Amino acid sequence: MILSLSTWKHGFEPNRVTFESLSKGKSALDAVEDGAKYCESDLTCMSVGRGGIPDTEGFVTLDASIMDHEGNCGAVAFVRNYEHVASIARRVMEKTPHIMLAGDGAELFAEREGFPKSELITAKAKALWEEWRKQPDKLHVRLRRAQEGEHEYVFVKVDEEGKEAVVDRNSLAARQSGMESHDTIGIIAMDDRGRLAGACTTSGLAFKLHGRVGDSPIIGAGLYVDGKYAAAVATGTGELMMRACSAFHVVESIRQGIEPIDALEHALDRIRTDRHLKDDMQVGLMVIRADGAWAARGLRSGFQYAAASDTRANTLYDAETAIVRDVVQQL
Ligand code: ASP
Repeated sequence: MILSLSTWKHGFEPNRVTFESLSKGKSALDAVEDGAKYCESDLTCMSVGRGGIPDTEGFVTLDASIMDHEGNCGAVAFVRNYEHVASIARRVMEKTPHIMLAGDGAELFAEREGFPKSELITAKAKALWEEWRKQPDKLHVRLRRAQEGEHEYVFVKVDEEGKEAVVDRNSLAARQSGMESHDTIGIIAMDDRGRLAGACTTSGLAFKLHGRVGDSPIIGAGLYVDGKYAAAVATGTGELMMRACSAFHVVESIRQGIEPIDALEHALDRIRTDRHLKDDMQVGLMVIRADGAWAARGLRSGFQYAAASDTRANTLYDAETAIVRDVVQQL
């Protein structure tokens, strides 16, 4: 059986690429890297790779991780001049005794490994940052994948409680339902030899503080694979998954015999107990168990993902929202 899952609507094409690679007999590791590379170069996607939305200081900084079925893993964080960060993460995994390289060190390593430099900021992302910078109270940006083509965006104000209000700017549309602010591409796959692998690649939260690193390059938070049991990946407000080690939590639950959907719900329940959780925060989790059973869940409605297998053409789904459990209500 071959199978691939990718986060978000704009994960549809990366998932197609991943699945095609699996169909050609490539390993799960090669296939998830192929999918990650695709979206890192897709300029219509403003949350991954080149074309991503900058941080507070106007820099696009990228984070990524990759992991295989044997527990090998690699990651890079705060990369400013290289586009294919999932591939650099893979190289860290394969060529160094370390797991993560960050900032200048990651870039020096990338240069020595022969990765080409890339100007990550695009005119569109720069214009968005300039617009954001004019706002005294530091607005949040919300992205929404248009039916076809590029990300659309609006600015919203978020109060202390996390309640949002759309800021009416001339040409910007009012907030529409289904709009998402989190858009990391997480890909997990199983190849024809039953091997699991995963990759996670992102420009992180829009207008994050300069230097902020999210969950995506943190093994166990944004991504975790145990070839014997499961592969799990996360997207959303990274600080939540970092505090809860969400991807590891999912895989560990599977190891303990919990069904995939329940494993996701347990991890989301854990996140619901986070005192920092606000109304505007979203989390999406996906898992593939070693026997090919899989599941995806969002903390709130609006989390979409793509799935493809040898019995299912690449399809976009709306993940259901996790059940709110009693333990959450007690808090
Ligand atoms: N998880 C990512 C981060 O916090 C954001 C996202 O999924 O879009 O950096």
